[in-house]
Amino acid sequence: MIDDLKLIRPGEIRVRIAPAPTGPPHIGLARTALFNHLFAKKYQGKFILRIEDTDIARSKKEWEEDIIEGLKWLGIEWQEGHYRQSDRGEIYKKYIKKLLDEGKIYYCFCSKEELEAHRNYLMSIGQPPRYSEKCRNLSTAEIKKNLQAKKPFVLRFKTPSKKVGFRDLLRGEIEVETDTFGDMAVAKDLTTPLYNLACVIDDFEMKITHVIRGEEHIPNTPKQILIAEALGISLPKYLHLPLILGPDRAKLSKRHEAKPVLEYKEEGYLPEAVVNVLALLGWNPGTSREIFSMNSLVQEFSVEGIQKGGAVFNPQKLDWINGFYIRQKPIPRLTELCLPYLIGADLLQPLFETEQYPPAYGASIITQKYKIIETGEEITFDKLQKIVGLYQERLKKLAEIPELTDFFFKKDLDYPKELLRWGDMEEKEIKDALDRLKKILARIKENNWTKDNLEKILLPEAEKIGDRGYLLWPLRVALTGKEASAGPFEIAEILGKEKSLSRIKEARKKL
Ligand code: GLU
Repeated sequence: MIDDLKLIRPGEIRVRIAPAPTGPPHIGLARTALFNHLFAKKYQGKFILRIEDTDIARSKKEWEEDIIEGLKWLGIEWQEGHYRQSDRGEIYKKYIKKLLDEGKIYYCFCSKEELEAHRNYLMSIGQPPRYSEKCRNLSTAEIKKNLQAKKPFVLRFKTPSKKVGFRDLLRGEIEVETDTFGDMAVAKDLTTPLYNLACVIDDFEMKITHVIRGEEHIPNTPKQILIAEALGISLPKYLHLPLILGPDRAKLSKRHEAKPVLEYKEEGYLPEAVVNVLALLGWNPGTSREIFSMNSLVQEFSVEGIQKGGAVFNPQKLDWINGFYIRQKPIPRLTELCLPYLIGADLLQPLFETEQYPPAYGASIITQKYKIIETGEEITFDKLQKIVGLYQERLKKLAEIPELTDFFFKKDLDYPKELLRWGDMEEKEIKDALDRLKKILARIKENNWTKDNLEKILLPEAEKIGDRGYLLWPLRVALTGKEASAGPFEIAEILGKEKSLSRIKEARKKL
């Protein structure tokens, strides 16, 4: 099967994704898109985007826009399209007419209730649900009468009773008895094909060579092959990617915290992390290596590495890989990426005429100044870099940055006095520690107020007590109001002498 791929000449390949814009794009679509993109790159072929919006009632423009935004965000590029099936009625018309003229499809006027009753009957006797073929042989006169009476109809395919087989590039021969599905509805009217027919026509018209899609489409493939045979058109090759499963090995769903692609963007996952995780959903590099950039995927990806068994999507792994990519970012870039989150949390505001983010007029973000909303103070990009830099190691996603750093941007900190207690400290000991801190810190000159200097002065003091926490824990809590944070010396440096001292005083007042 894989040998089929050896025959490919560079440039011949044309693949596509064909999402229906009936909901926000999910991980499954992004994974299919990525594999098609990599396949096209590998064989110097073309990747085509086709929006399957023939289901007008359920398709929405905003979902189409989300598909496009999501793919662009992930760096998955298409070279042709995007095509939209709703623009292609004229093309479909020709094919539907041909099938109708040749008696390969027929008008079916059965009502929903009738269809359902028959389906229920078949199921009650343990047979697969399929159409009764009631309308298969209606006379021309009957059809005419029904059409004149404006009776609703669908066009159904006269499925021949036989075995249909195809060779999946991954799974080998797959064979299905057509009796299991019977006469399928293929069009709503003379210009609106349903999914299977539209897909066959478009794959042919767009000269698609390889259909690479999820395993859940395997039942559609024999249907599409029958339709293509009826139309006398050539078939693409098929490769069905493994199902995506949750950590419990059930089909991936919301229950597994799987979210629409753009929610990952909003939460501050980096596209490189998402792409990396998607690539490992069904592709095995054959080594224990886990980190793959898009460029390295283009180099390394091979169909031979695609697995048949379900691929487990693990949100924790995504967090881990995202943290990895965050740690790789140069601090100025990471700061830039974090800024929209700080602004969005109403902690900061950019200072320029239009008060927009990102800066207008191509102004450099580095020279941009910001205002701390609560205090009205100005803060430079340089200082913001220091703040973000403190958290680069522990940040798992960008959206965590406001929560981690908000104390730098607040006037007053709100925390219970209990938080100031280290271990079994008595209240008196906390008071003493804070008084001591006040005294020591007040003596340090502004120009000596650096992390190194603060550490040099405070650490020996803290060690004198035996347990450093007696001095350093109340200090850190006084500065941050938080149970966990970066270290007190670097935080004090960024806050500056005046603010650090006033926070210690505020803490003392709590006791
Ligand atoms: N519209 C189908 C879907 O969204 C396309 C499947 C295919 O690739 O043929 O799943």
